[in-house]
Amino acid sequence: MVSVRFLLKDILFYPDDVLRKVSSPVESHEFGSPMKKFIEELYSSMDKANGIGLAAPQVGVLKNVLVYKTVGEKEEVNDYLINPKITYTEGNTLVEEGCLSLPGVFAKVPRSVKITIEAQDFEGKPFTKTTECFSSIVIQHETDHLVGKLFVDKLSLMKRKMLLTKYNRNSRRN
Ligand SMILES: [Zn+2]
Repeated sequence: MVSVRFLLKDILFYPDDVLRKVSSPVESHEFGSPMKKFIEELYSSMDKANGIGLAAPQVGVLKNVLVYKTVGEKEEVNDYLINPKITYTEGNTLVEEGCLSLPGVFAKVPRSVKITIEAQDFEGKPFTKTTECFSSIVIQHETDHLVGKLFVDKLSLMKRKMLLTKYNRNSRRN
């Protein structure tokens, strides 16, 4: 039995090459307690950065894992997906998004309203989930990270240029 460890880095920023790589599926020997620990670490990185979603490649781990915040009865609760696949989409919407890997810039991006996802829990048990609005948008944004896509890719060339110019100006200042 191989012992599995997932080593998190600090959140990577655009234009880091890792953000453009395609992540691999979590395999059967990687489920269980190391995965549970990894998810807890992802939650804590997301919280520290005041994010509402974080995908494993953003902390340098090229695995199909993402965490996000969802709205529970009274407060936001942490949730996660392993090996997520969006199997159904419905409706179109434009929502303003930002990204922990591109701090300080925001843009309206086209997304589906409602999605159905097939995924696994940390023990490898498969489940299906249908969600709308807030969680649906965050999950679409984070699943894009797993295939090396960023929200700016969904903008027109001109809008993307403007946004990245602003981003580059901000990062020079800091
Ligand atoms: Zn992001």
